[in-house]
Amino acid sequence: MIRDHFRIMVANLTTGKTSILDRPGRNEYLGGSGLAAMLFEEFGHMDRDWDDPEQPVIFAIGPLTGYFPLMSKTCCSFRSPYHNQYTESYAGGKSALSLRFADLDALVIVGKAKRLTALCVGSRRVETRDVEYMRGFDALQTGRVLRKMFPGSGRRSILRIGPAAENLSAYACINVDTYRHFGRMGGGTAMGVKNLKAICILGDRGFALPEGKAYSKLYKDIFKQLTTTEMMAKYHGLGTAVNINPLNELKSLPWKNMQQTSSPEADNISGERFADDTLLRNAACAGCPVGCIHVGFVREQFQTNNQYLYRQVGYDYEPIFACGGMLEVTDTGEVLRILDVIEKEGLDNMSSGVAMAWATEALEKGVISEKETVVKLTWGDTESYMQAVEYISRPPNDFYKLLAQGTLKCAEVYGGKDYACVLGQEMAGYATGEVFFVSEALGFRHAHLDAGGYSWDQKHEDKDVKAALDFLIDDARDRIVLNCMVGCLFSRGVYNDDLLAEALESVGYTGLKGKMPEIGKRVQKMRWRLRLGMGYDPNKVKIPKRYSEVTTWKGPIDMDYMDALRTGYAARIMDLGAPIEDDE
Ligand code: SF4
Repeated sequence: MIRDHFRIMVANLTTGKTSILDRPGRNEYLGGSGLAAMLFEEFGHMDRDWDDPEQPVIFAIGPLTGYFPLMSKTCCSFRSPYHNQYTESYAGGKSALSLRFADLDALVIVGKAKRLTALCVGSRRVETRDVEYMRGFDALQTGRVLRKMFPGSGRRSILRIGPAAENLSAYACINVDTYRHFGRMGGGTAMGVKNLKAICILGDRGFALPEGKAYSKLYKDIFKQLTTTEMMAKYHGLGTAVNINPLNELKSLPWKNMQQTSSPEADNISGERFADDTLLRNAACAGCPVGCIHVGFVREQFQTNNQYLYRQVGYDYEPIFACGGMLEVTDTGEVLRILDVIEKEGLDNMSSGVAMAWATEALEKGVISEKETVVKLTWGDTESYMQAVEYISRPPNDFYKLLAQGTLKCAEVYGGKDYACVLGQEMAGYATGEVFFVSEALGFRHAHLDAGGYSWDQKHEDKDVKAALDFLIDDARDRIVLNCMVGCLFSRGVYNDDLLAEALESVGYTGLKGKMPEIGKRVQKMRWRLRLGMGYDPNKVKIPKRYSEVTTWKGPIDMDYMDALRTGYAARIMDLGAPIEDDE
């Protein structure tokens, strides 16, 4: 049943109590990113650090979740252990659909459990279990235990953390249904600091689809558009890994800690090569006909009986760039072996790969020694990287403790800041040029998906600062609308504002036609207000020297252009995040 208010469950891990709240705001915030920011304003604390037990971890879905294809993501918001400011992360799997079937628009978790705990929520059920015995369990093992602990159908989603989050690494992730993740900015640690090992969402209730022809006709139209476009064929076929070769050709593939932006070896870890050598199957988030998730296999031989063990490991472009090219690991199976360890430890694979790339260069340059790294990190040496991942997750010394808090934090103490590939957080895999570097370094989530700076770089040889900044702000706003719906961003070429309004109308949310830009702007400002209110100053962001040394398809980086973009973008962000009284 469509309702204009949001239905929210608040679970307090300190008191063990839960409550259901109704909140208005559908026409102002839609859901997802807007709802999460609205709820953080209510439940979050601007004056307390990220690890304060009362800081909330919020999961929010959108108004079309379960009604239309690719409306399959969940927004998770929290105060980040990475920079102690407001942030968001997105994941799919079955999380969004399970929340819809549990009749919840959002789940807010506050407080801190005394002992390690698993929380199970459904429409008719809330339960916590003491799982202290699972301390140190890896993320995959935890999933196996949870599936037995809370039996359920395909409408059940299991979110869990690994040892890295228990040990409070600033870039530990939340594993969602094995192959999806709230990957970036330390969402796993926001759970770990609450002693929350896992959340099981039971979609134990049905929901009625709209009657009448308008909805079913529109559904069919959208389904057709999404499944017949070239973009969707690309994502289903080779998946995002298809980007390795084109970015390499464009001299935009970060390689060997971005000492290079292309390599003749890149083809060995291309999407085509992964498909030929390792691909086992495709998988999809619930409610998605595209199925961009690619699952490969790693094979290991038991020493005792000569038998083989096969393990399934998901891959995408970003993990391949971070744990392949950045480490100069140029064999598909070897890349998957590193990713397998990262998966179990529950770390963000991009941050882990980039952190290890920095450490390898620092070791090579003599800035750090094996006393710090314990293992001899060497380009292309899978075994040493697998070991280092475990050390980041379970630090044996002060060096790894600091590296687990972020590459730049570590470089500030040990040296080597110039070649720390950090743009707000460990970089995403696009050495496309000035606009992307500035966009990721200053952007709200420091994610490549905040705005299409990487795409602007690939299409524009001109150096029009105003045009580039206008694009970043407007594109971010458009993406925020889809983040409020919480649709998969791969569908943004199909779900424009008009189609979204039409889809909303078809399920019963009326009066939103023409309102999307206004809502996007409102949420954009609100998110920036939260971030700036917690101490973010975009004027102080520095872009490490390595970014001035690379050569892309356009030639060497133009420092004057990059600096103008940086100062201009900082000014626009300050403007967007100005207090409300200044807006009007
Ligand atoms: S395209 Fe991929 S990430 Fe997006 S909803 Fe489908 S399976 Fe999930």
